[in-house]
Amino acid sequence: MLIGSHVSFGSEQLLGSAKEAVSYGASTFMFYSGAPQNTIRKEIHPDLLKKAHEYIQENGIDLNHVICHAPYIVNLANRKEEEKWQFSVTFLKNELKRCEDMGVKYMVLHPGSAVGQEKSVALKNILDGLNSLLQEQYQCKILLETMALKGSEIGSLDDIQFLLKNTDYQVGVCLDTCHLNDAGVDLSDVDLFLSMIDEKVGLDHVYCIHLNDSKNTVGSKKDRHANIGYGTIGFDVLCEIAHHEKLKEIPKILETPYIGDSPEDTEKKYAPYQHEIQMLKNRVFDYDLYQNHS
Ligand code: FE
Ligand code: FE
Ligand code: ZN
Repeated sequence: MLIGSHVSFGSEQLLGSAKEAVSYGASTFMFYSGAPQNTIRKEIHPDLLKKAHEYIQENGIDLNHVICHAPYIVNLANRKEEEKWQFSVTFLKNELKRCEDMGVKYMVLHPGSAVGQEKSVALKNILDGLNSLLQEQYQCKILLETMALKGSEIGSLDDIQFLLKNTDYQVGVCLDTCHLNDAGVDLSDVDLFLSMIDEKVGLDHVYCIHLNDSKNTVGSKKDRHANIGYGTIGFDVLCEIAHHEKLKEIPKILETPYIGDSPEDTEKKYAPYQHEIQMLKNRVFDYDLYQNHS
């Protein structure tokens, strides 16, 4: 089973990410190549990169399944200020180049938010952005993520279908189970859900799955991730997705919240990923996820 979580990049860069992933018993991982909320990026350190590649191989991880995530403040949909939009395009070009240098094959990108513009304009801006971005060829593929449709977010399955059809270049898809649920997609019948995905965007275009439970009901447009088995999608459905034969080759990435990551609970805070990966591997839900570590 190809499963991992988002991990930090930090001072050891890709090596640090890989070490964190291995500590969770993961077989893959996803990282932001800097802070997700800003566009400040450090240069890739060649010695650390070499060590990272060795470490990744020694620990049985296939670099071809490792995923980068573009910072979520980049918004190709918004071209109200031309300079900012151009900055986003240039920034993403550099990110693709950095991924290429690291040997990372996929970069997840949020399509963006319309922020007051007509939806058709927002979609056109994304298309123009992707087309200008991909004029140069990169060894790293952009994966458009399905979004929860919170606020003016672009990223319903129909939006993704439209973008896939109309870009001049090949882009892929990242399915986020929490986002799909919140956007109004019922995941409870997994086979039905997968045939719908296949019809809309083609399962062969899906290169990453964000495996998250949701704190809210189908169609709530909220985007609040829950720990596996603690949300409205539930353990059984997420476990079925994790083990599904048709999704075998696709990395599944947990983006579930840290335990103790609520305002009233500031002292104990730890990553749930080792435990969640274990539960999914065992196919058994453990009600004591919170208690076990406290
Ligand atoms: Fe995302
Ligand atoms: Fe996601
Ligand atoms: Zn989300």
